Amino acid sequence: MASKNKRVAVIGGGVAGIASMVALKEEGGFDIACFEKTDNFGGTWCYREESVIGVASIMPTTHLVTSKELSAISNFPPRKECSNFMRHDQVYEYIQEYAKLQDVLKYIQFNSKVTEVKKTDDYEETGRWIVTVKNTVTREITNSVYDGVMVAIGHVNRPNIPSYPGQDLFKGNLFHSHSLKEVDPYKNKTIIVVGMGCSGLDAAIETSNVAKQVYLSARNGAFVVDRVGINGIPYDYDMLRPYLYQLMDIFPTKFISWCFETGYLDKQYNHNLYPVVPKQHLLARDPSVTSNFSAKLINGAVIQKPGIQSFTEDGVVFEGETEVTKADVVIMATGYTWKFPFLEEDVLVREENRIDLYKCVFPIHLKHPTIAIVGFFLPFGPGIPPGELQCRWVAQVFAGKCKLPSRKIMLEHTRRRYEANVARYGPSEKVSIKVDFIQYCDEIAVEFGAKPNLLKYFLTDIHLFSKIMFGPSLAYQYRLQGPHPWDGAREAIMTSEERMLYPLARRESNVRENMLKILFRKALSALLF
Ligand SMILES: Cc1cc2nc3c(=O)[nH]c(=O)nc-3n(C[C@H](O)[C@H](O)[C@H](O)COP(=O)(O)OP(=O)(O)OC[C@H]3O[C@@H](n4cnc5c(N)ncnc54)[C@H](O)[C@@H]3O)c2cc1C
Repeated sequence: MASKNKRVAVIGGGVAGIASMVALKEEGGFDIACFEKTDNFGGTWCYREESVIGVASIMPTTHLVTSKELSAISNFPPRKECSNFMRHDQVYEYIQEYAKLQDVLKYIQFNSKVTEVKKTDDYEETGRWIVTVKNTVTREITNSVYDGVMVAIGHVNRPNIPSYPGQDLFKGNLFHSHSLKEVDPYKNKTIIVVGMGCSGLDAAIETSNVAKQVYLSARNGAFVVDRVGINGIPYDYDMLRPYLYQLMDIFPTKFISWCFETGYLDKQYNHNLYPVVPKQHLLARDPSVTSNFSAKLINGAVIQKPGIQSFTEDGVVFEGETEVTKADVVIMATGYTWKFPFLEEDVLVREENRIDLYKCVFPIHLKHPTIAIVGFFLPFGPGIPPGELQCRWVAQVFAGKCKLPSRKIMLEHTRRRYEANVARYGPSEKVSIKVDFIQYCDEIAVEFGAKPNLLKYFLTDIHLFSKIMFGPSLAYQYRLQGPHPWDGAREAIMTSEERMLYPLARRESNVRENMLKILFRKALSALLF
C-alpha cells in the first residue's frame, strides 16, 4: 500500500540537514529523503584535505568559536569531557553521535547533488516540487516529486575575492582562506592576510607560527574577542545571558557597545593601541573570535596594516603608505558570497540587498509554505541552536500545525528587520539575514510554542527561572515545553556549569561561585583597573 505520509526532500547533510531530518522524524508523518553531494555527512565539520568551491572548508586546527554548551543541540548536551571550544573532529563526533542516536543517517543518499528544484505543474493546488538529483559517481539523473523541501546547503562555501588595482601583476601566491589547510608551505615566507573576521585572524595566527612575518590588512578593523572570557571561562558562557541581552531592548546599541568595549574587550586587547581601530561599534559588526591574537601582536609575529591600495609584482602598497611591502603570499580572508543555484528565480526574491525570507526561513512570495531555507542566517552568537529551532518550526509548518501570517505581515516584518539591520550594520550583501542570538531563538521558539513560560517558572521553580534568566542562554530551555519536550531539559540546564568546568580541571570541579561573589569581583575589578 502506498504511504500516506508527506514526502520531504532535505538538501544537504550538514548539521542543518541532520537537524531537519530529526525534526521531521520526531514529528512523524513524513517520508524523508536527504541528498548530500559529497560522500560524507557533517558539512563544515567533516574535515577534507582538499578545498572544494561550494563546500565549507576548515583547517586541521579549526576549533569552534562558540563554546560547547552554547552551541549544543536542544536535547543532546555535549559530553562533559569535551573541551569547551571543541576541535573540528570533536564537533564531527558530536554530530555523528546525535545522528546515530536519532537514527537519521539511513535517510541520506551520498554523492547526490541536487541540480534543480522546480514547481510541479499542479503547484498552484498542491504546493509540490520536482527535485532533480545527479549522482556524482554514476552521473545518473533522477527526478522525484516532494510535498516539501528543506534547503540546508550552508552559505560559507563560495569564496568572495575582491579585486584591487594591479592585482594581476602580483607574481606571488594569492588565494582565498577557503583553500588554506596546512601552514608548512608558508615557512619563512612573508604573508599578507586580508580581512579581520574569524578566518582572517585564524589564518594570520596559524601562519605566523612558521612564517617570517605576517601582515594583517583590514580596511575597517574589527573588535576581537578572545575565547577565554575575563573569568577564565568561555567568553560566551559569561556574556550570552538573557538579562544582559535585554539591555539592548532598553538602551541604544551604541551605548551598550561602548560599555562592552570599555568594560570588557579593552581589558583583553586594547584596540586603540593598534593602527587599525574598528570604525564601527561592537554591535554593528560581527565580533571576531579567536585566541592569542593580542600575544601575536605584542610579540610582533603579526603586524596590523590598513587596507590595500594597490598591488605590485612583489607586494602591495597599503593605504596611506608610499612604500611597497613585499610579500610572497597573499591570503584573502574576505568572506563568502551566497548562491542557491538549483532554485527557481522566484523562490529567493532579492530586492536590492533585501532577501525576502520570513524570519530568514520561508520565501514570502510563494503561494504555499512548502519550501524552507534552514541555516541561512548570520547570528550574533552561536549558529547551531537557532538553526535547530528553524528546523523544528519548519516541521510544524509542514505538518500543518503552525500557520504563517499573511504575505503582507511577513513582508512588513522582513522589511523592518532589514531596515533595522541596515541602520545598525550598514548595507551589505547578507545584511537581511543578520540576527541577534537570544532574541532570534526566542522569536522562532514562539512560532511553535517552545519558548519557556518564564512567569510560570518564576512562580513554580525559581532555581530554573534564575538559570534561564541570569545564566547562559542554553538551547535545552526550548525543550521544556511545546512540541516534543525532553524530560532531561531541566537537568541539562541545571548541570551545564559542571559540563563547562569539567574539561578545565579534568575532574568534577569544586568551584561554585555564588552571584554575590561574582558581583563583588566585578565591582572590585571595575574599581581597581
Ligand atoms: C571555519 C568555520 C568555523 C565555524 N565555526 C562555528 C562556530 O564556532 N560556531 C557556530 O555556531 N558555527 C560555526 N561555523 C558555521 C557553520 O557553518 C555552522 O556551525 C554549521 O556547520 C552550518 O551547517 P549547515 O548544515 O547549515 O551547512 P554546512 O555545514 O555547510 O553543510 C551543508 C551541506 O550541504 C551540502 N550541499 C551543498 N549543496 C548541495 C547540493 N546542491 N546538493 C546536495 N548537497 C549539497 C554540502 O556538501 C554540505 O555537506 C563555522 C564555519 C566555518 C566555515
